[in-house]
Amino acid sequence: MKITRVETFAVPPRWLFCRIETDDGPVGWGEPVVEGRAETVRAAVHELAEQFLVGADPSRIEDLWQLMSKGSFYRGGPVLSSAVAGIDQALWDIAGKSLGAPVHQLLGGPVRERARAYCWVGGDEPAQVRDQVAAQVDAGFTAVKMNASGRMNPLPNLAELDEVAARAEAAREVLGPEGDFAVDFHGRFSTAGAVRAAGVLEPYAPMFVEEPVLPEYTHLIRRVTDSTRLPVATGERLFSRTEALPALQAGIAVLQPDLSHAGGISECRRIASLAETFDVTVAPHCPLGPLALAASLQLAFCTPNFLIQEQSIGIHYNKGAELLDYVADRSVFRFHDGHLPRPTGHGLGVEIDEKAVRKADGSAKSWHNPVWRHRDGSFAEW
Ligand SMILES: [Mg+2]
Repeated sequence: MKITRVETFAVPPRWLFCRIETDDGPVGWGEPVVEGRAETVRAAVHELAEQFLVGADPSRIEDLWQLMSKGSFYRGGPVLSSAVAGIDQALWDIAGKSLGAPVHQLLGGPVRERARAYCWVGGDEPAQVRDQVAAQVDAGFTAVKMNASGRMNPLPNLAELDEVAARAEAAREVLGPEGDFAVDFHGRFSTAGAVRAAGVLEPYAPMFVEEPVLPEYTHLIRRVTDSTRLPVATGERLFSRTEALPALQAGIAVLQPDLSHAGGISECRRIASLAETFDVTVAPHCPLGPLALAASLQLAFCTPNFLIQEQSIGIHYNKGAELLDYVADRSVFRFHDGHLPRPTGHGLGVEIDEKAVRKADGSAKSWHNPVWRHRDGSFAEW
């Protein structure tokens, strides 16, 4: 079997899919994307395809991963790691389809029967979370995630900290002691500010606090983990085992690799295994589309230290299209009691509606995150 063609599709709301064709075998799909840089990743995918993929045996997933990740001397970073990630997903999809098994079966078989997932509430400027949490509880979810704040001063004042606490209090009241909510700091606080914010959240016992410091300050995350009893999570902007290692060594509790950013199923499987040696659970980041979620689920079902899965249905970023719009059989993503079922289809276990994808290709308005500024006009983290 040889790879004959690699195509990419930029589709609303902000996703990029790749499709890998073989001469005598199945077609594989993956989702290589960085939010806001879909076209940049698309260029990288086609460069990799031309250099390493067309004419190659798609079953040599690890060898191709090595070539794509290291074979051009310069390596790593969000763009290249995400391009490799989506291609890696598609190669696993081909492997599963040609061997007649779901990917998690090829990686040791299922270790659980269903995967818990959470949904987002509150948006970028989380004003009223109470009603949204209640709506998700009504929909069967047992866990939600919200931003700690909107634009934030590096050192939050008392009013800002009160707001952070008030939203957590509202979420806890709706969820009761059995439900879970996580709070995403989104790197909006300084390290000192994150320590203070974690402190005011402690009485409400969130499942974890996320990205308390920016990825470039991973060497400072121990200040946060040492200062709070709350589990600390990070990882959506770390792209390899070597980048995850310092966070693990600094005492985080939850690692959040993104299957479409951190080298795909191959590298995220290794990242999860590394996390296990630190008694750390994994909660893969996934505010993305159906292929990223399908790849995440394949990992969830073969990973003993999986905690919970992020997913984007109804997320505030999904304007103009939803995850299910590109899926032929939607039952693979049908929630029951806040859990997703074990995918039994071959490969990634999701059948892409190719017609819908081809029709949507190119109709995506380029998505960019907002650029925020502090009251004095200086740049603020989004
Ligand atoms: Mg996050």
